[in-house]
Amino acid sequence: MNAVDTYAEAWNGIRNGFESGRLAHAYVIVGSPRGNALQFSESFLKLLFCRNAEKPCNECTACRQVETHRHVDTLWIEPQSKSRQILADDVRGLIHRMTQTSFEGGWKAGVILCAECMNVSSENALLKTLEEPPPKTILLLVTDSPQGLLPTIISRCQKIVLSEQHAGALNAEWYEPVMNILRDLPPRNGLAAAKSASQLKVIFDVVKEGIAESVIEELDLSDEALDESKLKDILEARTNARLKEVQADVFRVMLNWHRDVLLLASGLSDAELIFPDESEPLQRQASRQTQGSALQSIQTLESMAVRLDRNIPALQIFDEAFRKLVRP
Ligand SMILES: [Zn+2]
Repeated sequence: MNAVDTYAEAWNGIRNGFESGRLAHAYVIVGSPRGNALQFSESFLKLLFCRNAEKPCNECTACRQVETHRHVDTLWIEPQSKSRQILADDVRGLIHRMTQTSFEGGWKAGVILCAECMNVSSENALLKTLEEPPPKTILLLVTDSPQGLLPTIISRCQKIVLSEQHAGALNAEWYEPVMNILRDLPPRNGLAAAKSASQLKVIFDVVKEGIAESVIEELDLSDEALDESKLKDILEARTNARLKEVQADVFRVMLNWHRDVLLLASGLSDAELIFPDESEPLQRQASRQTQGSALQSIQTLESMAVRLDRNIPALQIFDEAFRKLVRP
């Protein structure tokens, strides 16, 4: 089934907007950048460019060019395979293209896949365009981790949520308790570091319980092919996989927090912050750091993020991270 049929309500909103000439200039599409959100974006673009009356026809040249990502008036960008970042130069190229006239005299579109991989300078480059979008342009930010985007970017885009599971991260139950831990950083000593780690463990335990409950709801318990031990295995595997995603999200928030500390320690204004609402604790932490020490914290965390991708228990990594952040 195509994403357009699965997410009929969201799709009808886009179609009505298109037909009445009231599309927004920018959309955040929350879902899988390789799955449902990609498909949805392609359908969106076909709607803009299709040459037949029944749009999208999925058959005309324009529709097929959209599908192969070769349409002349659409530019796709995604993270560089090595750094896994979307570079500011790529974003600037996309913005530049969107300010030029279209080849076919109609719409111009830009799609940023895995938009959460934009670094701070990429996001700032994009912000200016979001404030003054060129006419007849559409920008699609496709992401499964909207919490990795600047709140100021999200607020300037219309949101289309295809996966509640991913969208939830923004207002997830863990967000506020994790922020509480971050506001208290850096730990005064090893004991304080251990305390932060154990607070985090409690948070993950609660999250895990919630995930397990929703996985049980999804499982088809009446399926006779599944005996009890198989069900148990599936439950455990799915729960752990999702818990891992949450842990990666928490780590990303922690990393972004330290990027903000670095920004402030480098004397930049708090208008650039990823967490503008947290300016006070961030300022306090930054005042105790030099640019060098703040940078070092980020490098430490980044090197640990790599290990999170391997099969090392997350709690062990967080525990080590907190200990490394202890004030010298
Ligand atoms: Zn078509």
